Amino acid sequence: MGKRIVIALGGNALGKNLPEQMMAVKQTARAIADLIEDGHQVILSHGNGPQVGMIQNAMAMLTRSDPEKYVPCPLSVCVAMSQGYIGYDLQNALREELLDRGIEKGVATVLTQVEVDPADPAFANPTKPIGAFMTREEAEQLAAKQGCQVAEDAGRGWRQVVASPRPQGIVEIDSIRGMVDSGLVVVACGGGGIPVFKTEGHHLKGAAAVIDKDFASCVLAQQLNADTLIILTAVEKAAVNFGKPNQKWLDALTPEEAEGYMAEGHFAPGSMLPKVQAAVEFARSAPGRSALITLLEKARDGVAGKTGTVIRQ
Ligand code: ADP
Ligand code: MG
Repeated sequence: MGKRIVIALGGNALGKNLPEQMMAVKQTARAIADLIEDGHQVILSHGNGPQVGMIQNAMAMLTRSDPEKYVPCPLSVCVAMSQGYIGYDLQNALREELLDRGIEKGVATVLTQVEVDPADPAFANPTKPIGAFMTREEAEQLAAKQGCQVAEDAGRGWRQVVASPRPQGIVEIDSIRGMVDSGLVVVACGGGGIPVFKTEGHHLKGAAAVIDKDFASCVLAQQLNADTLIILTAVEKAAVNFGKPNQKWLDALTPEEAEGYMAEGHFAPGSMLPKVQAAVEFARSAPGRSALITLLEKARDGVAGKTGTVIRQ
């Protein structure tokens, strides 16, 4: 029987630059179309780390080129730009793949605002890596030039880091639900959503942050009453003792088992930890809900219960 599935696409589903993304989305579209062909209802969300970093750097260069002509571009606007062009690439590729298979289904992207709490402690402690990897020297130069913060990212190199508050609510959720219920394939909450907070009256103000797409996708899946949250990333399964000689891939976990491994520090913050946290939160949110962490190319096998790390009660 068909399930309602929210799929969070990680960086490897999108590539690291414009030409890579054009190629990557073709393969992504095939994996998604497989699930739609199997009768599932699919809602897509995606990350934007490399893309929002690229846009932010480009906008900062523009401002530096002529500060009187070009005012600085807020990070929330950079997130909105990344949602727009990633959504375009995804809906373009998925439309083509579905039509090639004789499936007439509309695909549409919703520019999504996600509410955050201005008192979230994340604003005082930037942890979310964005943009390209750098050497320590390059990162320190960037920090000095742009006044941004940089940090080492899970043993892979240095990157800019920005505040990553928790998502509190999806502003456009009724529009998204209406489109999903009418049979469209919807791309929403891209890059974790455009972070906004309430000010006076009905005004929503953009926040200087990038929400983790794993957490935003968890909220999206709960609010759409999805059966499954699938987080597609660069590894087939989550592991304990990751990268060590005694590494062990994980198959099925209860939320309690996953929490035990989290407490022992097996999942890197900013990469695997938010995925496991989001998976645990979704699996706990209602009976029958499960979360799956696996590779893009293994999505169909994962839904069939053949691979991936599954978290369920
Ligand atoms: P995405 O763009 O999909 O969000 P991330 O780079 O944020 O990808 O997170 C996935 C990465 O997390 C994996 O490629 C892997 O290098 C890293 N990782 C950290 N800890 C673990 C772990 N315990 N098990 C598996 N992967 C891990
Ligand atoms: Mg990530």
